[in-house]
Amino acid sequence: MAETSSLLITGGRVMRPGADLHRPPAADILIEGARIAAIEPGLAGRPDIAGRDGLEVIDATDKLVVPGFVNAHYHSHDVLAKGLLEETFLEKWRLLALPPAYPKRSVEEIRARTLLGALECLRSGMTTVQDMVTLYPFDPAHLAAVLQAYEDIGVRAVVGLQYADMRGIHTVPYWTEVFPEEVHSKLSTAAEPDRNFDLLGFFEDEYLKPDQGGERIHWALGPSAPERCTDALLQQTADLSARYGLPVYTHIYESKGMTLQARRAYADRQGSLIRRLRDIGVLGPRMNLAHSVWMLDDEIELLAETGTNVVINPLSNMKLKSGIPPIRAFQEAGVTLGLGCDNCSCSDAQNMFQAMKLFCLMTAISHVEPGPPQAEAAYTAATLGGAKTALLGDEAGILEPGRLADLSLVNLMDPSFVPLNSALRQLVYTEPGRGIDTVIVGGRVVLGGGVLQTMDENALLGEVEDLMPDFRKDFEEIRTRVDKLDPYIQEAHRRTWADDVGMNRLFTGK
Ligand SMILES: [Zn+2]
Repeated sequence: MAETSSLLITGGRVMRPGADLHRPPAADILIEGARIAAIEPGLAGRPDIAGRDGLEVIDATDKLVVPGFVNAHYHSHDVLAKGLLEETFLEKWRLLALPPAYPKRSVEEIRARTLLGALECLRSGMTTVQDMVTLYPFDPAHLAAVLQAYEDIGVRAVVGLQYADMRGIHTVPYWTEVFPEEVHSKLSTAAEPDRNFDLLGFFEDEYLKPDQGGERIHWALGPSAPERCTDALLQQTADLSARYGLPVYTHIYESKGMTLQARRAYADRQGSLIRRLRDIGVLGPRMNLAHSVWMLDDEIELLAETGTNVVINPLSNMKLKSGIPPIRAFQEAGVTLGLGCDNCSCSDAQNMFQAMKLFCLMTAISHVEPGPPQAEAAYTAATLGGAKTALLGDEAGILEPGRLADLSLVNLMDPSFVPLNSALRQLVYTEPGRGIDTVIVGGRVVLGGGVLQTMDENALLGEVEDLMPDFRKDFEEIRTRVDKLDPYIQEAHRRTWADDVGMNRLFTGK
């Protein structure tokens, strides 16, 4: 039997449960194999540990040791589109950014974009990404490229294919009315509605086997949005999730348009997608509702009763003019919150520091009176909350013996942390991400002293540049096509905003 590798991290200030998170005391951390074996001061001085053959030691003096962040909502399919777009509203953005609009991509591009996105996540201190990826048209070689990329770079990945079985045009308010008939066929933004292909059945047969996936790769299910899925598809999702213990990711009430669609399409359930999901039996601790911006109080109660999780995505919610989610109401009801950075084409950055800070600031401007401290809430959502949404709540998300050794070292000798008034608040409000020095995933040093250890970073960046002429050409064609449709898109948007859905989540001053 191979001897378990040992790694000792010495002298760092450790953000562990029960510690003073504002000025955490220093301790040593012993990692054996993939897991944390001990966290105590003075481990480095013990001969039985210091004298071990092959012991690797990392000096973490002047470093903060933080649990690895979990990017609880992410899509690797548009990593190459960061910085291409200004603010716009969700329904227009979908036409510009979602894979069905694009010609089929190459395996090389899919590998490069997956690696690049994972690299940015790692450099932001994320050790787990929950990738709700659209591979359109589905090709097993593309999924294999995604999985191999995650294996190679060394991040922990929870991979869920995104799917739907209703045509996009029928799921956005006013689109069938305002768009001329001849463009209707171009407005399918759902994933696989027309191919008569049972993606979920194929996925179960091919991938949900005990010997599939590496130890850092986990599976999930990704129904795109409930209003784009029939009851039968959601039932199939609930069944697979229960049988294989898989997390489920879906987008819900992200924009006013998605909320209005629910009011119109599900009048029999008081216009509530939450009641529909409850009746289908898909709510519960395995279900993660991304966004949940336009959620009503009685629906929040149903989430709390069923133990359903919510994933907040501050960056995309603001850039796509979706609005501000009712974070304090979720907290008061006891709903578990995760935090995500969503698509690169609308969040632009896979950066948990930006997400944590905006989580707090959005909460602050949503209420007249101060509420409970939000820095720890944001930090918890980025760590343990996210781990819970990945069904890794007993494995990752906090630093304690027995858990997976998924953690980061953050440089405290940076203006962000000097003077050190509160490690917790400076992590959330001050640190922009430049302090991430070392990232360890499952006991393996993936980023060490700022250098990617698992592959040649410069070669990867060069490969991405080589792929960009084709990607940019395709993107510009799509932009030209969407620009021509703009008057219709705007008209549907205007009508949507004139309607009442019982609340307003956008700060319009009215
Ligand atoms: Zn999303």
